[in-house]
Amino acid sequence: MSQSALWAPWRINYILEDKTEESNSGCLFCRLHEENKDCDNLILERTKYSYVLLNRYPYSSGHLLVLPAAHVADLDELEAEPYIDLMVLLKKSIKALQKALQPSGINAGINMGAAAGAGIAAHLHFHIVPRWPGDHNFMPVIADTMVMPQQLESSYEVLKPFF
Ligand SMILES: [Zn+2]
Repeated sequence: MSQSALWAPWRINYILEDKTEESNSGCLFCRLHEENKDCDNLILERTKYSYVLLNRYPYSSGHLLVLPAAHVADLDELEAEPYIDLMVLLKKSIKALQKALQPSGINAGINMGAAAGAGIAAHLHFHIVPRWPGDHNFMPVIADTMVMPQQLESSYEVLKPFF
């Protein structure tokens, strides 16, 4: 494991959940967008064609997902206007993280396809992960089911004013 790698054991729950999600009730990201429960669903901002939410199974505090409302698997499937809308929201989300959490660095990336590590490969999404020196050392790796909901709630409250 490289120095910068993050160890996130709760990811395994996410992977297992995804399979259930996809076979039982369609696309999670489409459902979250359709539901009118932005606070519960940790959605921070909606634009005309896109939205941004906190990742419920984060690599670090403030881990965001930025995605198009449309159910597309590939960037190429987005028309110019939704594509620009997505890029503008991506930039805004990075700015919000920088202002709200003042990380030392940010990893931003896109996993296209299951082989690239995309949890929900059918619906395109960008990951934005704020980073701090040694962050994988102080992350709470135990009792995540008790700690994480509180962390998510406070991350949501801290970030919301910056959108
Ligand atoms: Zn979808």
